Amino acid sequence: MSKQFAVIGLGRFGSSIAKALYDLDHEVMAIDVDEEKIQENLNNVTHAVQADSTDEVALKSLGIRNFDVVVVAIGQDIQASILTTLILKEMGVETIVVKAQNQLHAKVLYKIGASKVVFPERDMGIRVAHLLVTPNILDYIELSDEYSIVEIISSEKMAEKTLLELNIRARFGCSIMALKNNDYINVAPSANDKIHEGDIMVVIGHKNDLRRFEEFVMNGK
Ligand code: ATP
Repeated sequence: MSKQFAVIGLGRFGSSIAKALYDLDHEVMAIDVDEEKIQENLNNVTHAVQADSTDEVALKSLGIRNFDVVVVAIGQDIQASILTTLILKEMGVETIVVKAQNQLHAKVLYKIGASKVVFPERDMGIRVAHLLVTPNILDYIELSDEYSIVEIISSEKMAEKTLLELNIRARFGCSIMALKNNDYINVAPSANDKIHEGDIMVVIGHKNDLRRFEEFVMNGK
């Protein structure tokens, strides 16, 4: 079902989120105080409106309360980001996702009721670092400070062994959620399913356990 999103702040991060949501067939209202940003993004969203999001009356008149998710992607101006979040919260917006500049900013945002705070530059940095140091890793998603999901290519050492034989959950404490290759995807594989060389394993676990598992995939120990 298509959802209604509003994105406030059309810098690189905000405009990229707005366009991606619009390309996924969701309704997107984009808001920026800068008219030039509105012109740049007109064709990538459902509506683009010039407004200052720290102006409560302006936000109300846009009916922002009725949106399922509002993303606050104001970067440099921390005060505007905090004020905007507070206004949205007081208006009763259910899900508010906010980009933070630093930990203190994030802490304030959570205190005033942000549903999720993101650090796009930091998160992408961590992700790229993981992809660089472990060649077998195709993708890396951080679920929390402690848990992640990785997509990792199986190695020759694991080929034609069943999950039971490899005993991954007991040995490494992580779980294989899916196995896939060009021809098939096996969601929630069972103990007797075999891993073939080159299969992509989607694995969930504690970061330390995943690291040990990655080591095993690469070096067989
Ligand atoms: P990037 O995503 O490019 O890294 P950034 O973190 O540098 O962006 P800014 O450029 O500071 O963020 O802000 C993003 C956008 O938010 C800008 O286009 C700016 O005009 C807009 N913006 C700032 N304050 C407000 C406000 N009060 N109301 C609406 N839009 C605002």
